Amino acid sequence: MAHMLHAYDGPCRNIHGHSYILEVTLAGEPLKCPGDPRDGMIMDFGELKNLVKEHIISRFDHALMINNLVPGEQQEVLSKISENLLVVAFQPTTENIAAYIAGIVQEQLPADVSLFSVRLYETVTAFAEWFAGDNP
Ligand SMILES: [Zn+2]
Repeated sequence: MAHMLHAYDGPCRNIHGHSYILEVTLAGEPLKCPGDPRDGMIMDFGELKNLVKEHIISRFDHALMINNLVPGEQQEVLSKISENLLVVAFQPTTENIAAYIAGIVQEQLPADVSLFSVRLYETVTAFAEWFAGDNP
C-alpha cells in the first residue's frame, strides 16, 4: 500500500509504498465440544484469513491512503492517478493504520471471540502494535 504523510517534515510527505505485514492475534476460549469440527479452536484460521482478506487486504492492497487534511485540489489529482484512493480521517502512520485495522477487525469478529492485538510492520524492523487492553 502507498501512503503519504500530510505536512510531514521529512521525505515521507511524498507518495511512497510499503510491503506491510499484518499480524492479528485473537483471544477467547477454545471450543470444548468433542466431535465438533471446530473442537479446540477459538476461531478457524481459514475464517480469520478470509475476514482479513475481505475487509483489510482487498481494500488496502495497492491502494493509496491519504489524510483528509490533504487539500481538495490535490485529492482530486490523486483520485485521477489512483484507482484506489483511500481518504482517511487520520494521518496514515503505521500506528494509526494499526488502530484503524483493529477497529475494522473487531467489528467483524464473532461475538465469542475478541481481538487481542494487531501488529503492523511497515518495514522488517519497524512496526506498531495495538493492544485491546490499552483500548478498553
Ligand atoms: Zn511510509
